[in-house]
Amino acid sequence: MERVETAANTDRESKNFIEHFIEEDLANGRFNTVQTRFPPEPNGYLHLGHAKAICLNFGLAQKYGGVCNLRFDDTNPEKEDQEFVESIKEDIRWLGFDWEHMYFASDYFPQLYALAEKLIEKGMAYVCDLNAEEIRAYRGTLTEPGKESPYRNRSVEENLELFRRMRAGEFPDGSHTLRAKIDMASPNLNMRDPVLYRIQHAHHHRTGDEWCIYPMYDFAHPLSDSLEGVTFSICTLEFEAHRPLYEWCLNALDMPLKSRQIEFARLNVNYNVMSKRKLKRMVDEGIVDGWDDPRMPTLSGLRHRGYPPEALRAFCESVGVAKADSIVDMAQLEFFVRDHLNYTAQRRMAVLDPLKVTITNYPEGQTEIFEAVNNPEREADGKREVVFSRDLYIERSDFMEHPTKKFHRLSPGKEIRLQHAYYITCDEVIKDEQGNVVELLCSYDPASRGGWSPDGRKVKGTAHWVSAAAAVDSEVRLYSRLFADENPNDGDFTDHLNPDSLVIIPHAKLEKSLASAEQGTRYQFLRQGYFVCDGKNKEGQPVFHRIVSLKDSFKKGN
Ligand code: ATP
Ligand code: MG
Repeated sequence: MERVETAANTDRESKNFIEHFIEEDLANGRFNTVQTRFPPEPNGYLHLGHAKAICLNFGLAQKYGGVCNLRFDDTNPEKEDQEFVESIKEDIRWLGFDWEHMYFASDYFPQLYALAEKLIEKGMAYVCDLNAEEIRAYRGTLTEPGKESPYRNRSVEENLELFRRMRAGEFPDGSHTLRAKIDMASPNLNMRDPVLYRIQHAHHHRTGDEWCIYPMYDFAHPLSDSLEGVTFSICTLEFEAHRPLYEWCLNALDMPLKSRQIEFARLNVNYNVMSKRKLKRMVDEGIVDGWDDPRMPTLSGLRHRGYPPEALRAFCESVGVAKADSIVDMAQLEFFVRDHLNYTAQRRMAVLDPLKVTITNYPEGQTEIFEAVNNPEREADGKREVVFSRDLYIERSDFMEHPTKKFHRLSPGKEIRLQHAYYITCDEVIKDEQGNVVELLCSYDPASRGGWSPDGRKVKGTAHWVSAAAAVDSEVRLYSRLFADENPNDGDFTDHLNPDSLVIIPHAKLEKSLASAEQGTRYQFLRQGYFVCDGKNKEGQPVFHRIVSLKDSFKKGN
């Protein structure tokens, strides 16, 4: 119990309500260990909301020197699949956590079945022949009590026989259920003889055709928790009204460990939908390019997008745990992504919309190497070589033929600094027949080598650039928010899609050092944002994803 004393000595104010409950139960001896679990249903890929639950469950176990297990809540055979089991494991590990044990609720099917028989023997459960619709009609409403099922008072023997026949496959789906015998007049609808088992002749991804009856969540969850040794069963708020049933199951069956269910608010993030059902629809309808589409709020999508797991963990920590639902701003998540990448991502120059520049007074065929700092935040990252030559590319948006008042970059007759290199002045603008600017003829000041003023004269603008002689062609994918609406859950979420959530730039020009970029490496492209290498395209060119822009420029209601 040393742990408890240590915990009690720390600052009380900084603890969340779950930690208070835990410490209370450790102090009063209800439990002497902390065991939690993360219990996903393998019916889809994990999303940001799950990241919150993962950080919370694993984090609490770490904090109190306890254990957190992974338990697949696989009691719905029709929607579940091994593919999801694998992706969930991968995502949890990527997020930086590892489970002590991995369990499947389906491993407990024999024990749960035996417990169900025990409940029948105690006269606390019965086999009901009402169908789903009738059960609903008999349940009553919040203002009216329910009506007892005509099958409620069957004898223990009859119930046992019928339940065994359900198990043996003698009845079709939906014809019978096993129900708890609690109270049809309970003000809590979940306590009005809830269904514990239903018949489902379905193939299960792990148990095959061994079972044709499956336990309901409300029966399987508390018992699995207790059998496993879970002391704190943390779940989201919608299960608050199920807590009495959770406790009823543990008490009715005299389970030696009375696990404690604690609810917290779901994480919601604006500009996102956070339900596996909706995410699955986007995948199935081809709205996105799979579960790991970089615009998806799935963990595999965020990983593909280039989000660092450290940023997700810091975000979840910053959100805290609440007892009331709220919506967190996506900008808060992006803040942590930028914050992490500012310290860890090396800087590079990349021109996304190239405009050709010829330095007319720079010798043809000559090149020169500049040393550029990789990361001003981390000296240990050293320097790299950047090639300078007569032919360059700058960003088209860094030039304006007729500059507005606030525009301080290149325009005819104006001088700017090329980052790391020289001052250049625009002497002439070359246009095609349609009047589009296709090239700038510029001159450079050799005395400004390194980008420093030779005589104290100031330039207002600095541009990034890439040498045409040494440029690497690249496909750059600019991702932004999938939804244009802050709350895409209003009405049909597909009505709120952002038509510009992906813009592909087929021919960006990158500095030479990026030719050898490795998949998964993240960079800051100067003045543009953070990007991650996503391998190579069919032409053998490196592909980059924009992780996040440098600043929060997203306009609400955009
Ligand atoms: P969805 O509604 O997206 O299908 P779910 O709750 O049905 O989510 P599960 O696989 O049952 O998904 O969830 C596993 C765990 O993750 C549960 O403990 C659940 O409470 C938690 N969880 C799911 N979504 C969120 C969320 N948005 N915020 C916090 N925890 C969540
Ligand atoms: Mg669920």
